[in-house]
Amino acid sequence: MLVNLKSLIEDAEKNHYAVAGFTTPTLDTCEAVLQAAEEMNAPVIIGQAQLYDAFGPVEKLGPVMARMAEEAKVPVCLHLDHGTSIDYIMKAVKAGYTSVMADFSDRSFEENAEIVKMCVAFCHSIGVTVEGLVGRMPNVDMVEKAEGNLELKEFFTDPDEIEKFIEITGADALTVSFGTVHGMTVAKPVLDMEHLRRLRKASDCALVMHGSSGVAPEQMKEAITYGLSKVNVYTKVSTSAQKAIMEAVDAERPLYYHEIEAIAKKAMKESAKETIRLLSNGYIFR
Ligand SMILES: [Zn+2]
Repeated sequence: MLVNLKSLIEDAEKNHYAVAGFTTPTLDTCEAVLQAAEEMNAPVIIGQAQLYDAFGPVEKLGPVMARMAEEAKVPVCLHLDHGTSIDYIMKAVKAGYTSVMADFSDRSFEENAEIVKMCVAFCHSIGVTVEGLVGRMPNVDMVEKAEGNLELKEFFTDPDEIEKFIEITGADALTVSFGTVHGMTVAKPVLDMEHLRRLRKASDCALVMHGSSGVAPEQMKEAITYGLSKVNVYTKVSTSAQKAIMEAVDAERPLYYHEIEAIAKKAMKESAKETIRLLSNGYIFR
C-alpha cells in the first residue's frame, strides 16, 4: 500500500519506534527492502536520493517503485532523499513519489525556510509530505580529510531554530544533526544525547536521524527513546552485499550476473530486517 509519510510517523510516535527510511537507488535494493518489510510486517520508506540519480533515474524508476509500493502488503512511503533542487523534487513528485526531503541546508536559515515553505505549499496541495533539514549533515569524507580536527558541534541543529522553521514552513518532519555522519561505517560516531533531548524539548515535530549506519545499537535505542520517529539507512544495507558477493565468488566457475544479483539481494534483505528489528525498539508489528 502506497502512503505518504504522515501515517507512518503517526504510528511510529504512537508506538515509540522509528520507521526505517531506506535509500533504494536500484530496483534490486528496492525489492530487497520491500521483502524485508513484508517478512517483518513493518511499514517502511523506500526511494531514490538525488545524489544517486545516475544509478536509477527517478523519472524512469519512480513509477516502477510506486507500483511496487502499491502492491506491497505493508504500508510503504515512496520518499525522495536529499532533494536539493526544485526541478528534481518536481520530477520525483511527477514520477509518483508521496513524500520528499527538501534539503536546502547549504543556504541561510531564512532561505532554507523560504524554499521549504514553497515546497510544502505545493506538495501538501497534492497530498505529498515534506521533510526539511535544519543544521547540516557532515559526511565521512569531511571527517577523514579533517584528520580528527572536524568539530561536529558546528554542524548541530540549533534548538532555537526548530520551532521557527516548522512554524514558517509547515514541514511534516525534520532531520536534525546531533553527531551522526553520512556514510560512516568504520569509525563509530558519538551522538550527543543531551543535544537530542534539547531538540526534542524545542518542538513536537517528528525528528529524523540521517547517517545511522555506524551508530552503535545501544545508542540507537537511546536516541529512539528520546523521540526520533524516522531513521535513514543506506550505507549499512548496501555494503552488506559486498561481503556476500566476495564469499560467493569462485574462481573455478564463473557466476552469472543474475546469480550475483540474487546473492546481493539476499544479503541486503537480511541487513534491512536487522535494521527494522533494531528500530522497532521492541515493538511487535502485527
Ligand atoms: Zn541523509
